[in-house]
Amino acid sequence: MTVNVRVRFAPSPTGALHVGGARTAIYNWAFARRTGGAFVLRIDDTDPERSTAENTQQILRSLEWLGIDWDEGPEAGGPFGPYFQTQRSDSYAAALERMKANGTAYPCFCTVAELDAKRTEAAAGEGVRGYDRTCRRLDPATAQARISAGEPHVWRLAVPEDRGDILVDDAIRGETVFPVSAMDDFVLVRTDGTPTYNFATVVDDAEMEITHVIRGDDHLSNTPRQILVFEALGHFVPVFAHLSMIWGADGRKLSKRHGATSVEAFHEEGILPEALLNYLALLGWSLDGETTIVSRETLRSCFSLDRISKNPAIFDFDKLEWMNGVYIREMAPELLAARMLPWLEDAGLTSAEDFAKRPEWYRALVPLVSERMKRMTDVVPALGFLFADEVRLDPEAVEKALSSDEARNGLVAAADALAGVESWDTEAIESTLRALAESLAVKPKVLFQAIRVAVTGSTVSPPLFESLALLGREATVLRIRAAR
Ligand code: GLU
Repeated sequence: MTVNVRVRFAPSPTGALHVGGARTAIYNWAFARRTGGAFVLRIDDTDPERSTAENTQQILRSLEWLGIDWDEGPEAGGPFGPYFQTQRSDSYAAALERMKANGTAYPCFCTVAELDAKRTEAAAGEGVRGYDRTCRRLDPATAQARISAGEPHVWRLAVPEDRGDILVDDAIRGETVFPVSAMDDFVLVRTDGTPTYNFATVVDDAEMEITHVIRGDDHLSNTPRQILVFEALGHFVPVFAHLSMIWGADGRKLSKRHGATSVEAFHEEGILPEALLNYLALLGWSLDGETTIVSRETLRSCFSLDRISKNPAIFDFDKLEWMNGVYIREMAPELLAARMLPWLEDAGLTSAEDFAKRPEWYRALVPLVSERMKRMTDVVPALGFLFADEVRLDPEAVEKALSSDEARNGLVAAADALAGVESWDTEAIESTLRALAESLAVKPKVLFQAIRVAVTGSTVSPPLFESLALLGREATVLRIRAAR
């Protein structure tokens, strides 16, 4: 039998998209693409205090930035919408009606105070573990009368008496048995009529015909409960695949303490989406155990659940940065130039109009920086001097490179020599300056470093002659004269 794969990513919009969530989304997406199935995005916004529309937007934009497209969900629409849990109360009400009718849900009138007292008793070792099923024993007519009288109540799942232990056969972790005795009659619908996570999620997964639930293993303990709800609804149980957590280098759950953890933060820090996608895809999955550069296309065509590891993955910031550098260097120069533009623009150095006026000039900046770039943010300090009207000379660099007479005299002569160079290109500049160093009997290194500081403000810069060629004769000569 062939199954039409349908998977979902169901973030709670209580914050930005964390890399752990992004990895879950990537695996769901890649699995859907590999199998020709559907990838559904569902917003679990049932926590009214912490869910915001801004967070939802940020999650959508982060997914989009990573190149993760969804077939159904917010903005895309689809036949199983709405895709926001807060808009699906009719579905939850209808599912509850079905469960009332088939006897798998019952009302519970126990008050919080009563439940607390029972819990205290249970903790002292006397009562039953979890809810003691007092209200399950009420006769239906009495229960109905209390509901009609307006008595506050929740709805609980009636865990079947004859149900054996619950086997979770996880596609990644294998089999885990949960004793049915540990499952109490948990709440499906609260006093205020809102569904609990375990209820809403199953109703949605059932209605949306989800075939595979791929999510973090922090939900593993919810899975036996969810299986009971699928059974109560008379629906097939999807395949579960629980991903192990992502750890920091210290073996603790990855958190802000370790550095950037949201997709947005990595974006702001100059990580490319294709590098982050590649890095996260390999954080717990492997193509063949050795390939480290895996493109979006390869993921789409080769991803499989059976190559997901059950061991926790360690997030290695250095490796991500290394991978980012690989993607930067492999990019076509025209493309890298275009992708440098937003960083230069955000730093207030240039504009899209300028880029459109002289694309070849921007294209020529690429070889100056790409070899040493690890992050897109590196272009700002490396290339800033090409855009500013004047450079600010770093006092330490001045002290090091401009304080000798040799250097100062060298600058005077260099300005004159460069003013007279016939064709302003890298070769002519280099030969002029080398000849000058020789005729002045100055070490080339000393002269070049003095020019570098005068022109870029710093002792570290992209290759000198290329930089001067791109800066232009006028600005070069002006800056050397000013520094002197
Ligand atoms: N909203 C839940 C979360 O973000 C979804 C869990 C699930 O995939 O069932 O953890």
